[in-house]
Amino acid sequence: MLFEEVAACYDKLEGTSSRLAMIDILTELFRKAGKDEVRNLIYMSQGSLGPAYEALQLGIAEKFAEAAIASATGFEKAQVHDAYKKSGDMGIAAEEFAKKTRLKRMSKRKFSVNDIFESMLRIAGTAGQGSQDTKIKMLVEMLAASTPLEARYVIRFALGQLRLGAGDATILEALSKSATGEREFKAQLENAYNICGDLGKVGDVLAREGVKGIEHMKVSLFNPIRPELAERLPTAGQILEKMGGKCMVESKYDGLRAQLHIDRKAKKVEIFSRNLERLTEMFPEIVKAALDEIKADKVIIEGEAIAYDDVTGEFRPFQETIQRKRKHGIEELSESMPLHLFAFDLMYIDGEDWMGRPYEERRKKLGSIIKEGGRIRLSDSTTVTQPKQLDRYFERMVGQGLEGIVAKDLRSSYVAGARKFSWIKLKRSYRGELSDTVDLVILGYYLGRGMRARFEFGGLLSGVYNEERDTFETITKIGTGFSEELMRNFKTMLDKIKVARRPARVDSLLEPDFWVNPQYVIEVRADEITRSPMHTCGKPGDGSEEPGYALRFPRIISNGVRADKRAEQATTTKEIIEMYGQQKKIRVEDVR
Ligand code: ATP
Repeated sequence: MLFEEVAACYDKLEGTSSRLAMIDILTELFRKAGKDEVRNLIYMSQGSLGPAYEALQLGIAEKFAEAAIASATGFEKAQVHDAYKKSGDMGIAAEEFAKKTRLKRMSKRKFSVNDIFESMLRIAGTAGQGSQDTKIKMLVEMLAASTPLEARYVIRFALGQLRLGAGDATILEALSKSATGEREFKAQLENAYNICGDLGKVGDVLAREGVKGIEHMKVSLFNPIRPELAERLPTAGQILEKMGGKCMVESKYDGLRAQLHIDRKAKKVEIFSRNLERLTEMFPEIVKAALDEIKADKVIIEGEAIAYDDVTGEFRPFQETIQRKRKHGIEELSESMPLHLFAFDLMYIDGEDWMGRPYEERRKKLGSIIKEGGRIRLSDSTTVTQPKQLDRYFERMVGQGLEGIVAKDLRSSYVAGARKFSWIKLKRSYRGELSDTVDLVILGYYLGRGMRARFEFGGLLSGVYNEERDTFETITKIGTGFSEELMRNFKTMLDKIKVARRPARVDSLLEPDFWVNPQYVIEVRADEITRSPMHTCGKPGDGSEEPGYALRFPRIISNGVRADKRAEQATTTKEIIEMYGQQKKIRVEDVR
């Protein structure tokens, strides 16, 4: 497939404001693609070069893109720079200069989608002295043979600014339709995605081996499994009722979730985050412990990595654990403040998938392969049958400075990639305030007025994720809680992801001064959830008068964006509706 066709399709995607139209355009694209192109097309359409855990970065800076455009079209760098400043979009600048190029087209060669993808991979893999020049040269080669429209997307892709808004669910649905003509096969494709964490691989298997290939996909070592997530309920009684009168309760550690893939014979360990990113280098002491302390050969286990003081026996605050998320000085940190891993699940052992077995069995097995007294420990837990027992355990954990508890259904299998009631979290103190903070996606922003005019930033339009519709729905405007520094940071950060019109997957009745690509997640606290006709969260899409849900007195509590969550991992519409119901119940109990 020629890249020309892909560019034309991306142009159409950009022009649509309907999610369904988006799926149809992508379906057509996947249908036309060759078997060996689907994988690359999927990565490319999501603006990446591979699955999250490979984290390949293109690393082209704007000024180098300007140099490449100038060199490929015979203009001055300064002219390209001015055009870029005017439109604010390097892709558009590349397109304009390609239209009026002063050079003769150097080659008649037309690039295929795989040619472009592989060139981009080579650019990403070029490092060391003189690498910038080599990267520019490769980019010039692509631009010189590009049509103006191709040039727009080559440049946006190289800069990491493609932003087509094609989320995982949209791609899965388009894949399903391209292979079967129906959207129903999406569920099976999603199962496959849940166990390998690589959408490109799913597309590749589907293209090469068809529906059967997907049905036969298996968990494998070093392919991260999408994590199971926890629901919320406000009282011990409700938790036990939901779990059938008996469950396991565990400490809820406030650290970083870590999925360990261990091959002891090959002496290889990889650690993945909640977001399926590779964290291996961040935890040298846990990598070592995985090889020394786990008594099994090929295993996948999951736990929470947390700073823990061996001397005082105290858990350290999250801010100390998160210090690991940096590039330098990790060795020193791993000595001055070593982390522990509190393991809570086992998904795979000695070549066998254990996800379908009941939790009780997985837990027992997990306990049997952990060496006692090491850096990797089994999470603290107890089995309860009475609300009182659960409450007592909860109080004890909170007393130890922990966040609360996670209750687990002893009968349930490991539900990859889903938030189900087989895990239920109960956190400290929900009285007087919303039971939990929420994670919202930034959808747009407002210009500052009055005192704030000089920051050109007045607040955020934010929303939640509707999993069923695969859309982002507005829930609140946030105008308080920003320090001057935060306002400046937001302005700079959001300017980079501004888009000309409302993205197709954003559902909104409000119009902010600027729309942005939905990609940043912030943590927000509010006083309560109310019904509101202004917001689309939970509002039926059939034009009915029924109001949506909104947050009252929202304030941002994170000091920026949550790096461990992508837009689709924000709080969902379903969760908001559940929290609204719980809030009402708590209030009734309070009055009594
Ligand atoms: P969520 O993961 O539910 O989307 P979140 O990232 O804000 O939301 P929490 O609300 O803190 O996370 O709750 C779930 C997280 O709790 C898990 O992802 C895991 O990292 C952490 N956790 C800590 N202890 C445990 C435990 N014993 N069992 C399961 N998860 C635990």
